[in-house]
Amino acid sequence: MKSKLYDVAIIGGGPAAHSAALYARRKELKTAMISKEEGGQVLYSSEIDNYLGIPDVEGFELVKKFRNHVDKYKPDRVEEEVKGIDKSENEFTLKLGNGDTLNSKTLVLATGAKWRKLGVPGEEELSGKGVSYCTTCDGPLYADSDVAVIGGGNSAFEGIIDLLPIANRIVNVDIAPEPIADPVLQRHVNESDHLEEVELEQYYGHEILEILGDGMVSGLRIKDKETGEEKEIEVEGVFVEIGLIPNSGIVEDMVETNDAGEIVVDCNNQTTVGGLFAAGDVTDVPENQVIVAAGEGAKAALGAYSYLIHQ
Ligand SMILES: Cc1cc2nc3c(=O)[nH]c(=O)nc-3n(C[C@H](O)[C@H](O)[C@H](O)COP(=O)(O)OP(=O)(O)OC[C@H]3O[C@@H](n4cnc5c(N)ncnc54)[C@H](O)[C@@H]3O)c2cc1C
Repeated sequence: MKSKLYDVAIIGGGPAAHSAALYARRKELKTAMISKEEGGQVLYSSEIDNYLGIPDVEGFELVKKFRNHVDKYKPDRVEEEVKGIDKSENEFTLKLGNGDTLNSKTLVLATGAKWRKLGVPGEEELSGKGVSYCTTCDGPLYADSDVAVIGGGNSAFEGIIDLLPIANRIVNVDIAPEPIADPVLQRHVNESDHLEEVELEQYYGHEILEILGDGMVSGLRIKDKETGEEKEIEVEGVFVEIGLIPNSGIVEDMVETNDAGEIVVDCNNQTTVGGLFAAGDVTDVPENQVIVAAGEGAKAALGAYSYLIHQ
């Protein structure tokens, strides 16, 4: 690709990036949208029912709606990973996975987050062989099987909801003493009609010591944090649903991040570097939700616009 100077380069393909691209183009900014996988986490959501005005929509359908809406305004789309970013006085240079570079006066980082790992023996070796991070993607592979869901937050409970119509037995383990998922999700699980056929075993206050298996997952070894008692549980699949890590690595030496690695932004989504804005799950803005990411993306693009006219 030939290097051309954009007004704004938006890195990401999730709701924050789509919303930023829409707002940037409506201000007639020369806009590039660079993403390695269009759709972001929304693609992995089986059903979204809390995006205002679009009730009860499958994740990939919502991504299609985002794309169609944004494409009315024709940003340049580049399907590549951004590997690195250099900043000179008035310009950012993005180094792309295919070796090309892309130059822009401002930048909106909307790179979202990726799944957090447990970091226990067996996890790496058995990843894709029974260890998964996405019930929406891999749940259907476990029809009538015994599975474990690790975690007690919203992701874990959404995972259990996905698995209730599929699995034979669900073992839910978390290190915390009790679940912290939204009450509406906990109720959805506890009052599910599927519990007449599916066994749900819960081990809160338990640590995962190891994922067991020789070539394929065969179980879990867990430890009661209070008594120290260890236990082995037989399962064929382990879904790790313990939260997310922000994808802030490409700018970690450039901008301020908090202890969790989230990019610190002000109320205009400006980072600590002039002209560099950030939005969505990669930032320290609380609540990782589609509607929040979309709103923050819009604010970041308007922040970039305002920055450009004041330069
Ligand atoms: C299973 C699941 C269910 C969920 N359910 C709901 C729900 O019901 N309701 C709700 O509101 N929220 C839900 N969420 C959360 C919601 O999906 C996220 O908060 C939202 O997608 C965050 O948007 P984002 O644009 O910040 O980042 P993401 O959606 O994470 O998108 C990040 C994008 O950046 C791209 N990217 C990352 N690094 C690079 C790079 N170096 N170069 C190029 N591109 C890069 C990725 O490919 C991706 O396209 C759910 C999430 C999951 C995982």
